[in-house]
Amino acid sequence: MKLIFLGPPGAGKGTQAAIISKKLGIPTISTGDMLRAAVKAGTPTGMKAKTFMDAGKLVPDEVIIGIIGERLGESDCAKGYILDGVPRTIAQAEALEHSGVEFDRVISLEVGDEAIVKRMSGRRVCAKCGATYHVESKPPKKSGICDECGGELTIRSDDKAETVRDRLAVYHKETEPLKAFYAQRLKLREVSGDQGMDAATKAIEEALA
Ligand code: AMP
Repeated sequence: MKLIFLGPPGAGKGTQAAIISKKLGIPTISTGDMLRAAVKAGTPTGMKAKTFMDAGKLVPDEVIIGIIGERLGESDCAKGYILDGVPRTIAQAEALEHSGVEFDRVISLEVGDEAIVKRMSGRRVCAKCGATYHVESKPPKKSGICDECGGELTIRSDDKAETVRDRLAVYHKETEPLKAFYAQRLKLREVSGDQGMDAATKAIEEALA
């Protein structure tokens, strides 16, 4: 099963991808997580990506196409995967298509801009393992501590309200056109991300059936 989860930042792609990944036994590939790890490790890719990420801008296509191509070639991807946060531009989608990847479904999680801005202010991320939480809708068992690994929960530097608005503008301009791209290929399924977490998971599972 090869899937793409599309949607604005904060729509719940990462949370839902983690749930569906476990159920299907396939990995989630998040270019955002890969880039944050590269920034933390101080690699050349990380250093190149950091300024774009801090400004809420997209990292150049050639960087993304390079890292995703490498990652999809690893053995754990043989049975399938969920792409979370990639492709984000038509050029990235075309590069994947040209490399011969065929997706089974593209799930677009739909959430309005105002709801996103509100949501992002409560988002917390584990500094150690990257697991995501929300102070209201998905609080950790112990405040400020990751349930999975005990790491410290932090606010992502690009989750500030001004940066979130920039990221939303980038989403509408660069990423939303992917819906038409995959609708043309009959792969697109739109699912409301503006419902409870469990209801959204159920709606995604129905869209995959
Ligand atoms: P995310 O965790 O998916 O919200 O990604 C965080 C940031 O990483 C984005 O705002 C971009 O700067 C960068 N990024 C992640 N994935 C991509 C991508 N596929 N194309 C371009 N930039 C990306």
